[in-house]
Amino acid sequence: MDIVVSGIRPTGNLHLGNYFGALKSFVKMQEENHCYFFIADYHSLTTHPTPADLHGNVKTVLVEFLACGLDPEKATLYIQSDLPETAELYLLLNMNAYVGELERCTSFKEKIRTQPQNVNAGLLTYPTLMAADIIIHRAHKVPVGKDQEQHLEMTRTFANRFNRVYSVDYFPEPVAYNFGENLVKIPGLDGSLKMSKSDNENSSIFLADTPEVIRKKVMKAVTDSGPANPNNPRSQGVVNLFSLMSYFSSPDTLKHFEDSYQSGTIRYGDMKKQLAEDIILFTSPLREKIMMLAADEVYLKKVASMGAEKARASAAKTIREVREIIGFKPF
Ligand code: AMP
Repeated sequence: MDIVVSGIRPTGNLHLGNYFGALKSFVKMQEENHCYFFIADYHSLTTHPTPADLHGNVKTVLVEFLACGLDPEKATLYIQSDLPETAELYLLLNMNAYVGELERCTSFKEKIRTQPQNVNAGLLTYPTLMAADIIIHRAHKVPVGKDQEQHLEMTRTFANRFNRVYSVDYFPEPVAYNFGENLVKIPGLDGSLKMSKSDNENSSIFLADTPEVIRKKVMKAVTDSGPANPNNPRSQGVVNLFSLMSYFSSPDTLKHFEDSYQSGTIRYGDMKKQLAEDIILFTSPLREKIMMLAADEVYLKKVASMGAEKARASAAKTIREVREIIGFKPF
């Protein structure tokens, strides 16, 4: 059975992109692998959340993970900061991580560009913390999106370097979990290629959005003035609407709007109304679960402590062995 590790930063509610791009696959993965799914709250400190926001965001992700079907009995579902062993491994890996290689990381360069006022050491060493998260469980596989492939490559570098420095064959080399055809990208309502919470707030639909909010957002989705000639390339906004419809509406509905696009009779308003109702149909059961779970503090506490206990058993074993390899020996 493969050991799989993946985390999500607690930066707010999960949107449809997170669901189709990550959670849906996590739910499948937990059936066939030994999965560790964690809420990356140490990582989120690079953006300096207030204590109240930090806790609230962790709770939101925990609740939404559970609502989406992650099963705390099958997978190990935990909060990153419940595992101080990760912080210790991060410290140890940093001793053999070179500033030059960290500075060359694309995501770090991107942060320097977008937030020059907050280039902290946590951002620079993000890849070593991510490596620690993965190899603390000696994982074999990591489900990563395209944007995270470089981090996984660095994880392999740090794992291999540890093995080389200490002449051991201790850490496996983690590889990307192959999703095959399942890797999907949900587009934004604002004409962007990828739904993302950092875009304007109307671009993303969150699992917890009410039907009224969903209707409002979908009705505001970017389109164009209509198909002057159905053979001309479609604007990105219209491509996105059809793409969303392919996920949420029935094939008949999709065909109906494709046909009316081709015949030049399409009314985007009608298409959006239909899409909004189909999305609501999809998210409503999830939203109900989210509301129920959010009110059940006793259950959440039980899930978090059960996850922490299972994750710590694995992490403590790794740290014990790593300390011994490095040469920390008790007197
Ligand atoms: P983020 O919150 O952007 O860090 O994303 C968390 C996870 O959701 C990552 O594994 C992403 O690959 C996935 N994800 C985020 N946005 C989308 C999207 N629009 N389509 C598909 N997957 C996404």
